[in-house]
Amino acid sequence: MRLAVISYHASPVAVPGSGVNGGMNVYVRALATHLARAGIDCDIFSANVGTTGEQSFRLESGLWLHSLPVRPHSPGSSDPDYLGIPEFADRVVEQMLRSSVRYDAVHANYWLSGVAAHRVKHDLNIPMITTFHTLEKAKRAVGALVDDRSSLRMHQEARILGCSDAVLASGHDEAKWLLEMYQAPEEKIVHLPLGIDRAFFSPGSSGPAREAIGFDDDVPIMLYVGRIQSLKGTALAVETLAALRKHRGARLVIVGGPSGFDGEQEFRRVRELISRHSLERWVTVLDPMPHELLSTYYRAADVVVVPSVSESFGLVALEAMGCGTPVVATDVGGLRTVVDDGQTGILVRDRNATAFAAAVEALLANPVRHRVMAQRAASRAESFTWAASAGRLAGAVERIVQQEELVNCMSCA
Ligand code: UDP
Repeated sequence: MRLAVISYHASPVAVPGSGVNGGMNVYVRALATHLARAGIDCDIFSANVGTTGEQSFRLESGLWLHSLPVRPHSPGSSDPDYLGIPEFADRVVEQMLRSSVRYDAVHANYWLSGVAAHRVKHDLNIPMITTFHTLEKAKRAVGALVDDRSSLRMHQEARILGCSDAVLASGHDEAKWLLEMYQAPEEKIVHLPLGIDRAFFSPGSSGPAREAIGFDDDVPIMLYVGRIQSLKGTALAVETLAALRKHRGARLVIVGGPSGFDGEQEFRRVRELISRHSLERWVTVLDPMPHELLSTYYRAADVVVVPSVSESFGLVALEAMGCGTPVVATDVGGLRTVVDDGQTGILVRDRNATAFAAAVEALLANPVRHRVMAQRAASRAESFTWAASAGRLAGAVERIVQQEELVNCMSCA
């Protein structure tokens, strides 16, 4: 069996944590790796904007990456990203036909890849499986800022969903969004929780980890990891530290960089807040770093904060738990699947600095509760493995490959 994995802008070899690179890159790489190990070969197709040459790499046995050239579109055009998609889809289909490899199914990641995968589905007459990663209507429902391609995106998401033979949901909330906001037929939805790589994200002593990252004092560490943008609530992490410091000494470490249309603006807010609250000594901002290096930061931290406005899953929360660090997260989306409130972390209902600081303080002030939560977090995280996720995906692929007819949406029929 062979799967074509379409990941337009999330390359499996890019460092996540800024720009277009985040959890999706980790997801694409980890699932394809574990599928290949389970006997389903995978070819990942990504766009390399602004280059001319096509490059193919064998990442490991049964797993290839095809990095395909796409012309840059002018930043002034209404949607430079979207405009690259038809050309990218051409490149993907050309590459597939040229190589004469036979694909059994195509897996789209994110709506932009879904547009290209939709074309691949019809050109090759193979079933399509989709992971949206984020859904525009779910973002709008929580009042998140939307950019000027919002209507186009919602329209395309509905089309892609209509023509998908299966759609993957990482948690209960994402499944609910698909059912209620997009009227997805229930039988199409496959629950596929994400995983972590336990070779990296497993518990360890915090002392050596603190020393390794250069904090050898005993000031508690609050850690924020991920892309910097308003949807992720990076500025709220800084406000939380400001509120917390009224009660106790603590520091905040931020690992990540600006992402998306308001990433730079959120980063400016972060810097302004640091200066307004005179937190220069207590906040450290570090550039994104390779996934594997983060485990030392998670182990060094006393608490990991995930103050997102909306979250489909929340890999950072799971990785922190895997390292035995309790999480304080907003009570939204996939974070409800990952964090067991009061057991492995705290879910905050009122998304403001006072409530977040109170939750962090409740953990820091009670070392016994902290230790118990840390242990429970580590053991809960053990049940989330990429091998299990890939097993579910393999089951879904086998099912759609065996179905007698491909699903066709009204506009495609
Ligand atoms: N990440 C990373 N390096 C960084 C910052 C983040 O490898 O410097 C990874 C992090 O380990 C996690 C992913 O980026 O696996 C972020 O995933 P999450 O689901 O939390 O957020 P998303 O980016 O999907 O919105």
